[in-house]
Amino acid sequence: MSLVVMKFGGTSVEDPAAIGRTAAIVAGRVALGKRPVVVVSAMSKVTDQLLRAAAVAAQGDRTGALAISSRLRTRHRDTACALVKDSADSIALIDFIDQKFDSLDEVLRGLAAILELTPRISDLIVSFGERVSSRIVAAAFRERSIDSTHVDARDILITDSHFQKAVPQDALIEKRAAEKLRPLILQGKVPVMGGFIASNEAGITTTLGRGGSDFTGALIGGALQAEAIEIWTDVDGIMTTDPRVCPDALRVKVISFEEAAELAYFGAKVLHPATILPAVKKNIPVLVLNSRNPACEGTRITSLAPHCRSPFKSIAVKKKLSIIDVVASRMLMTHGYMKEIFTIFDKHQCAVDMVSTSEVSVSLTVDSNDNLPAIAADLGKLADVKYEGKKALVCLVGEDIRGKSGMAAQVFTAVRHINVRMISQGASEINMSFMIDEEDADEAVRALHAAFFKDPDPEIFDVEARRC
Ligand code: ADP
Ligand code: ASP
Ligand code: MG
Repeated sequence: MSLVVMKFGGTSVEDPAAIGRTAAIVAGRVALGKRPVVVVSAMSKVTDQLLRAAAVAAQGDRTGALAISSRLRTRHRDTACALVKDSADSIALIDFIDQKFDSLDEVLRGLAAILELTPRISDLIVSFGERVSSRIVAAAFRERSIDSTHVDARDILITDSHFQKAVPQDALIEKRAAEKLRPLILQGKVPVMGGFIASNEAGITTTLGRGGSDFTGALIGGALQAEAIEIWTDVDGIMTTDPRVCPDALRVKVISFEEAAELAYFGAKVLHPATILPAVKKNIPVLVLNSRNPACEGTRITSLAPHCRSPFKSIAVKKKLSIIDVVASRMLMTHGYMKEIFTIFDKHQCAVDMVSTSEVSVSLTVDSNDNLPAIAADLGKLADVKYEGKKALVCLVGEDIRGKSGMAAQVFTAVRHINVRMISQGASEINMSFMIDEEDADEAVRALHAAFFKDPDPEIFDVEARRC
């Protein structure tokens, strides 16, 4: 059975026209004899707006929160009406949307009364985006003669109770997928489910973290041993850098799992960082494709990428970082000091991206977050501490930097006009990264792109697109 998991991001379901394109892509796969399982995100920007509604309600602004919800209700109703004309299906769909938004309004009213937004309530509020979008998409597919069935992702994606970044329970997901998805697929149905949302074993709603629908796609693909996992988005594939920053960016035709994982971890928004792992474990190819340009062959992520003339495949940037400098003469000749520092980061559940040490000082970079003052206060008990926000990490990734000499010189020559705060190479053999001020990040990426992609290898990069 040629089973393929197709994940469509927010822009691929943003309005009736986008959902129409998505339906045509899925129908095309069915016509080829494939058995798709479809995972969809919330309509674009809906997750941000739901989080905004939650924040506004938690500040006591009940009217403001309900106004956001009311605009979202209208957007979903209008989309449903434009897509589903069959009267029985459209009445049921509008009813479903109204019921969900009535429940959301109830939660927002409660929140505006108690004024405390917990991670658990935040997950509940934000889940409405995928719950409603997936239902609309399933109905739109049926209207277009795709034999689709809506499946509540929370019945399959079982996680722990770490709200807002829940950890999937692989064995349970495999069991649920076998029980609830496989029979539908065998009957020739196309299951449609929301990404990102999940539930713990007690049935309480959780989420997999922002951008988590890619992760859902990969988990379902892994659980069902799919032939491929397709991530459909709004660009032609993984590009040599974010095309919004650098319009000269080229499509990367093929990239290794390891390279794609590094890129995602270091901020290439096109893929969620954890997406690759379930696919790697089971050796399932991942494809990144463009729902606005389905004829384009996209990017294929495979276990081994062919070698490439250029040292790097792509440049990623991670913004909104802070740098923390810890300086103490006590560090001189002592051991256990690093452990004390990392225990503090652990206590505040704060992940460290990059570390650099000298005889008496340690510099660390972390995502800017509200806990920084508390972390600094704890570190202040050990040493002198300074921290500064608005930093960005630029990361160049490529398997072909292994063992190449002179790479650092070429990289830092390209950005010689920019003040570099911290450098890291070696933690992984396939990336080089450095930290700069956020305001310099776009310029640094453009300068590096111009230096390293002026003569791209046509085996690896889509150079035809540049010629057009
Ligand atoms: P979706 O809603 O489909 O999940 P995202 O907005 O999460 O889409 O990711 C797609 C976006 O990622 C693109 O529009 C692009 O601006 C951005 N992006 C960042 N880095 C890259 C890269 N290296 N290649 C392609 N896209 C990138
Ligand atoms: N809707 C969620 C988000 O915007 C998940 C996703 O789209 O991947 O983060
Ligand atoms: Mg995404």
